[in-house]
Amino acid sequence: MKAISIIGSTGSIGTQTLDIVRQSDDMKVVALAVCSNVSLLKKQISEFKPKIVAVWNEDKAKQLKNDLMDDSVCVVSGMEGLIAVATYDKADIVVTAIVGMIGIRPTVEAILAGKNIALANKETLVTAGHLIMPLAKEKGVSVLPVDSEHSAIFQCLQGECASEIERLIITASGGPFREKTYEELQYVTLEDALKHPNWSMGKKITIDSATLVNKGLEVIEARWLFGVAPEQIDVIVQPQSIIHSMVEFKDGSIKAQLGTPDMKLPIQYALNYPSRKSIQGERLDFTKLSGILLEQPNRKVFRGLDFAYDAMYVGGSMPTVYNAANECAVTKFMNKQIRFLQIYDVIDACMQAHNVISNPSLEDILETEQWVYSYIHKKFSA
Ligand code: NDP
Ligand code: MG
Repeated sequence: MKAISIIGSTGSIGTQTLDIVRQSDDMKVVALAVCSNVSLLKKQISEFKPKIVAVWNEDKAKQLKNDLMDDSVCVVSGMEGLIAVATYDKADIVVTAIVGMIGIRPTVEAILAGKNIALANKETLVTAGHLIMPLAKEKGVSVLPVDSEHSAIFQCLQGECASEIERLIITASGGPFREKTYEELQYVTLEDALKHPNWSMGKKITIDSATLVNKGLEVIEARWLFGVAPEQIDVIVQPQSIIHSMVEFKDGSIKAQLGTPDMKLPIQYALNYPSRKSIQGERLDFTKLSGILLEQPNRKVFRGLDFAYDAMYVGGSMPTVYNAANECAVTKFMNKQIRFLQIYDVIDACMQAHNVISNPSLEDILETEQWVYSYIHKKFSA
C-alpha cells in the first residue's frame, strides 16, 4: 500500500487525486490539508480515514475538532499544521496540490523528511527551484511532475539521456482569449477569464492560463525539473490540448506525449511511476480529429510569457517577484479591483522596481514576497 499525503485535498488537483485513490487497490490516504473548506474535508475524512488533517484557518480547525465525534483523527492548523501533514511519518509520497508560494515550506520540509513529491504546486519550483532540486537530490527523493506539460516531458524522457536534449517544447492551449486583440482584452471580465476552453481547474490557474502567465510559470518550472538552460525551452500554442508537450533531441527527433485533456492521467502517472495503470475516462480518437493545430503564441498581447523569460534570464529573486506579483494581481483581479490587462502592469512594475538578490535563500524568497506585496499595496491601492 502506497501511503499518500495531500496538501490541498479539496481543490481541483486534490479531489482528482482522491478519485484516483478511490479507484486504486494499492493506495491509501494518511494525511490531508486544506485552507478552510471543512465541510468537504469532513466527507473526505469519513471516506478515506486519514490519521492527521490540517486546516490552515485556526477557527475552522477548532470547529472541525468540535464536530468530529472521535479522536482517531489528529487536527492541526496554520503553517505548523501544513508541515505536520507534509512530514507525516507514515506517508510515502506528498501531493502538493496547494495554490501559491505558500507551498514552499511544506514542500521543503517534506523533502527534508525524505518524502517523494508529486508536484502540482508549480509556484514553489518557480520561486525556489534552485534550492528544492538540489535538496531533493541530496535527500534521494523524487520530484515527480503532476503538471500535464511536465508529465508529458517526463514521459518523453523515459529511457533517454538528459544531456541529449536539444530543447523542450511546452504546449499551451492559448486560454479563452487566444484570438482576442489587445483592444478587446481591455473589456474582458472575470467571468470571461474563468471560461477555459479545455481544462476545468482552480480559479487562480484558470486566470493564469488566460494571461499566459501559467505558461511562463511552466517554462521556469521546466527549467528546474529537467535541468535545462533557459534558451532550451520553447512554447507553442496547441489549442486543442491534445499534444501535452514535446522534447526535441540532438539528432532532430521529436517525441510528444498525447492524450485527452484529463489531469487524472498525469496525477496517476506521478503516483504510480514507473508503472502505468489502467484509467477510466475518454480516450483520444484520431478518427474524430480534423487536425491538430499548432501556432505561435501572441507575445505582444499576452505579455505574461515574456516577463517569465525575462525573470528566468535574470534569475536570483526575479522569478519570485514575477510569481508573487502575479499572485497578488490575480487576487486583485478576482476581487474586481483591477482589470485584466492591469495584471501585466502590476508584474511589470514590480520587476522594474526590484533589486535582484542572487542565489536567494528561503528567507530571502519569503522576504522578497513580502516586498512585492508592500510595493503593490503602495503603488496600486488607489
Ligand atoms: P484549487 O484552487 O482548486 O485548490 C487549492 C487547494 O489548496 C484547496 O484544497 C485549498 O483548500 C488548498 N489551500 C489553499 N490555500 C491553502 C492554505 N493556506 N493551507 C492549506 N491549504 C490551502 O487549485 P488547483 O487544484 O487548481 O491548483 C493547485 C496547484 O496545482 C496550483 O499550484 C496549480 O498551479 C497547480 N496545477 C493545477 C492544475 C489543475 O488542473 N487544476 C494543473 C496543473 C497544475 P480550500 O478548499 O479549503 O480553500
Ligand atoms: Mg500545465
